Amino acid sequence: TQTATPQSGGGDVRLQGISKTYGSFTAVHPLDLTIPAASFFALLGASGCGKTTTLRMIAGLEDPTTGTVALGGQDVTALPPYKRHVNTVFQSYALFPHLDIFENVAFGLRRRGVKSVKKQVEEMLDLVQLGPMARRRPQQLSGGQQQRVAVARALINKPQVLLLDEPLGALDLKLRRQMQLELKRIQTEVGITFVHVTHDQEEAMTMADTVAVMNGGRVEQLGAPADLYENPATTFVANFLGTSNLIEAEVTGTGGEHLLLTAGGATLRLPTRRCGAAPAARTGGKVLAGVRPEKMALIHADRADAVPEGHNRLPGRIKDASFIGVSTQYVIDAHALGELAVYEQNIERDGRLVPGAEVVLHWNPAHTFGLDAAQS
Ligand code: ATP
Repeated sequence: TQTATPQSGGGDVRLQGISKTYGSFTAVHPLDLTIPAASFFALLGASGCGKTTTLRMIAGLEDPTTGTVALGGQDVTALPPYKRHVNTVFQSYALFPHLDIFENVAFGLRRRGVKSVKKQVEEMLDLVQLGPMARRRPQQLSGGQQQRVAVARALINKPQVLLLDEPLGALDLKLRRQMQLELKRIQTEVGITFVHVTHDQEEAMTMADTVAVMNGGRVEQLGAPADLYENPATTFVANFLGTSNLIEAEVTGTGGEHLLLTAGGATLRLPTRRCGAAPAARTGGKVLAGVRPEKMALIHADRADAVPEGHNRLPGRIKDASFIGVSTQYVIDAHALGELAVYEQNIERDGRLVPGAEVVLHWNPAHTFGLDAAQS
């Protein structure tokens, strides 16, 4: 069989109008997406949103119903997987149990008829920090080590693009966190384009330069992790990437750089530029004003005078408080506005901030983002 010849460096991935339908069910709606060369890209979404199907179409394991896939500027839509400069790492590492680690990694080279494999394999084992394990069998390694062998094996032929399908799914949380940083380091070192599928938002945000949040077979938003977190464009993205307090409000006018809102009797300010293109951002429009819990602060109602000038403020009552070390997580009953979450760092804890206490929630208006209430 003919295998892909190695290429140096990463290639970009360009999807144009690709879609996938199974009978009458559309798993992926027509999608245009460009993944820059040598970047770390994550497809993030809940189970069934179409991320694996998208990945499999890039790999050539699934034929798109419509559209084209180009890798490094070459249209590969009609090429079988082995003719694409792509390799895939799956959750089940699928290592060869009867071969030692060295031979597992050497496999791709030997299959291409490469004679002297030693130097390349050793380099690859060093890259994944498994040099001393070369003569062990897969079953003599931990889950994290096996995962690194799978990555080394997939990288040995220097694909332009490495696809990773929930590769850390089988690992426990601590190891998972470690491997996330490890994979990021490897990607930076080899400069190959990584496309990583995960349902774990923290994982996507830790590793990727760019994240595509998928929902119902569509990319709902694309951006750098911090940008998605701070400026979610939809309630789905706001809620999928961590906890968000979405406060139902109505626009009453403008003041300087802000929209003025009314919510449960309180007046809030929302930076106009953080409303995106929300059509509701006009007087009378209904918006959701979002604030991340760690951006909000709590103060006992007795000390409401100490709230900084210009902050948004809402009255409430502490419903629940959980001390979790770095922070205390409060659930606040904000009366007509429902429940809001506040994470307070335990710097100067006011001993009176216990369930039942009347409080004022406050935050810098700059930390507020706006969503159109009608699209949610
Ligand atoms: P997961 O994280 O659970 O793998 P996913 O986001 O990767 O989810 P896909 O595997 O891409 O989702 O599947 C998207 C949708 O397409 C799902 O609803 C799935 O049931 C459906 N689907 C996938 N493969 C087939 C198939 N061969 N025939 C019919 N439906 C399919």
